[in-house]
Amino acid sequence: MATLIRAKQVIDGTGAPAIAGGVVLVDGERIVQVGKRSEVTAPSGTEVIDLGGWTVLPGLIDMHGHLAKNAMGNEDEQLRQPDAALALQATRHARICLASGVTTMRTVGEIHFIDVAYKRALAEGTMVGPRVLIATRPLVATGGYGVFSGFVAADGPEEIRKVARANIKAGADLIKIFTSGGGAYTARTNPLQHYYSREEIRAAVEVAHAHARKVSAHAIGGLGARYAIEAGVDTIEHGHFLTDEELDLMAERGSVLVSTMTLHLYPGIDWSAYPTLQEYRALVESVAGRSVRKAKARGVTYTMGTDSMHGLMWFEVGCAVRHGGLSPMEAITAATRTAAEVCGLGRDTGTLEAGKWADLIAVSDDPLEDIGALSSLRFVMQAGRRYDPKALVEHLA
Ligand SMILES: [Zn+2]
Repeated sequence: MATLIRAKQVIDGTGAPAIAGGVVLVDGERIVQVGKRSEVTAPSGTEVIDLGGWTVLPGLIDMHGHLAKNAMGNEDEQLRQPDAALALQATRHARICLASGVTTMRTVGEIHFIDVAYKRALAEGTMVGPRVLIATRPLVATGGYGVFSGFVAADGPEEIRKVARANIKAGADLIKIFTSGGGAYTARTNPLQHYYSREEIRAAVEVAHAHARKVSAHAIGGLGARYAIEAGVDTIEHGHFLTDEELDLMAERGSVLVSTMTLHLYPGIDWSAYPTLQEYRALVESVAGRSVRKAKARGVTYTMGTDSMHGLMWFEVGCAVRHGGLSPMEAITAATRTAAEVCGLGRDTGTLEAGKWADLIAVSDDPLEDIGALSSLRFVMQAGRRYDPKALVEHLA
């Protein structure tokens, strides 16, 4: 049966001005038509959902997620839990993410192939949550950042090729590689230290691209970022300390910046238990948005993710406005259309256009006036299936 959604305005995600008094006509999983009320004719028997004074926009795409862990707590401790406990955590986080308007997510590293099981459960309909593109086990170097979380280290081009191929065989949609250090918890390393050589990163890129998979590199900055860009990595994650030359090279090579500011800027976390993290956090805070502003100036494609700050995608989009110098419309477009295109899902999601999946959300306040309005989420639809955001997380701590 067809459904007609009416709202105060519809932001279609293409970057075009909002459609005042806009409607979206949905049939099954897909959008049939989007436009002004007078332009769209619904067949008789169409169910009408009147969202009154709310704003409708495409479902958000979290480009950097990890379902098993929660960045608001001690990740190292969390990842030492048994597989079953981690899998249960992942189901909780998936609900929180969908309830916050994330209809699609790229998971960029999970242990024990939890993301493979999650994706299968979604397909079977035994779970709800964001649809996912999964990286399975990331590539991490011996002694490098990321090994702490139980990932298997791979060194040298041959081992890297083998793990990348095994990941693809297990169902990886993309390959994730940690090319620089990072600042998390007890496993803190120098964020600007590089761990892989050019040829090691190139080996990962060769295998991935041979299988039509993209490569995502954890790269805070330093040589790890430079080598990754030079090796043809598709997305640079975090990138807080990218230099002008590296951003120029990204513009030239078409590499995408996936920014993650929430972890460092969200005020609602008590960091006192993590003394080693505080210093790093303050350092990143001091350069917040710098790479995004420079990326924008150079025409580097930019999008964003929460890095397992579940439920806070609205905050990350806000960071792009407050710190990255994007307009609210540009930030919404980055988290919807651009993200979908970078995922290779541009034909199916990211904008509200005829033929695409009906992935849409509604917020009661106007995000074009104040981007913080994305937190006033009232309605979620994923591929035509309607969810009450409150009910999704009811009874969850
Ligand atoms: Zn991450």
